[in-house]
Amino acid sequence: MTALGPIKYLTIHCAATPEGRDVKAATISQWDKAKFGQVSYHHVVELDGKDVVTLPDTVKGAHVGLNNTGNIGICYVGGVDAKMKPKDTRTPAQKATLRQLVGEYRLRFPNIIVRGHRDWPGVARACPSFDVKTGL
Ligand SMILES: [Zn+2]
Repeated sequence: MTALGPIKYLTIHCAATPEGRDVKAATISQWDKAKFGQVSYHHVVELDGKDVVTLPDTVKGAHVGLNNTGNIGICYVGGVDAKMKPKDTRTPAQKATLRQLVGEYRLRFPNIIVRGHRDWPGVARACPSFDVKTGL
């Protein structure tokens, strides 16, 4: 495992799983290990709002191309509709947990930059299916 380095960024993702499908954090971590050889995110927020720590904050994730150094990744389960089109499917419980998590990181790291995956330069995808600046 590679060290994360000083924390500068927090990036929000969706799992791109269909609305209402109760995929668990452990399953997402398994998919990521199969695809990327490691767990991608530091937190996965399940449909019921449960925050599952999938990687310690000291370990580098694999969630924004070449920009994973110092970058905490938080993924919520959902993010697409039944036809796999991007949709903000966050449940009220997930919204509350995401806000709380981001708030905690902002307290611990006052200069942290919070973004959606799609806000990174060169990212041509809808993830996390909502505007982090206005919709968190
Ligand atoms: Zn993403």
